[in-house]
Amino acid sequence: MKPKLFLVLSWVAFIIFLLLLVTLNYLIYPRLHTITKELPIIFFILSALAVLIIGGGLLLLTLTTITKMDLLYPHGKKQITVRVLLPIVTLLGKILQIHPDKIRLSYIALNNTLILVTKKRIKTNSLLLLLPHCLQWSECPQRITRNITDCKKCGKCVIGELNSKYLNKFTKIAVATGGSIARKIVVDARPDLIIAVACERDLLSGINDAYPIPTYGITNKRPYGPCFNTQLDLKELEKALELFGKNNKT
Ligand code: SF4
Repeated sequence: MKPKLFLVLSWVAFIIFLLLLVTLNYLIYPRLHTITKELPIIFFILSALAVLIIGGGLLLLTLTTITKMDLLYPHGKKQITVRVLLPIVTLLGKILQIHPDKIRLSYIALNNTLILVTKKRIKTNSLLLLLPHCLQWSECPQRITRNITDCKKCGKCVIGELNSKYLNKFTKIAVATGGSIARKIVVDARPDLIIAVACERDLLSGINDAYPIPTYGITNKRPYGPCFNTQLDLKELEKALELFGKNNKT
């Protein structure tokens, strides 16, 4: 999935946002004017500022994605634009009957692209690999949420291979059973960069929750349905390590 879908929907969302603001200005002008003459002008200036910040942010995101040049520097804050536009993009997706996961995947692709483009500015001394609990074989008796090394490496799930080959490639590998645990792990570990594995929905919220720590997202595979014996394509993990793993602790 590419960032294009999310960016196109974001521009449509921005135009809707713009039209809403224009309509709002038009509708409330007479009321504000009856209170004081300055109030409509103040409201107009605030509206124009909002349009400039969000439109400018979206333009920078789009140009950065297309040119692969770090145009976000020093304005590395994509959050305002994304936070305002994401609900409208989600609503648009519903109206246009686009599956939410398609939009989320495109957002994750945009996020990963921006991380790659801004890579030179990201420290990778401390690298956290954050995994979902559903990667563990459902009948495994071992408790790996406290410590991944409690895994017996029986080979029934990917946790064993992560234990054998990847422990020394990350500063920390942690398994989260939910969003609040994931947030706590991130707060405790304070990594420079997170490589997170999860479903599209959890990745999207995780990327936004972890901000300003950059989070590179890898979606899990779900051959048995959601949240059950999910899988991780280790090639994708290797790719992420090639990109970010050179300077991390061993
Ligand atoms: S590889 Fe580890 S976590 Fe997976 S089923 Fe075996 S012991 Fe359990």
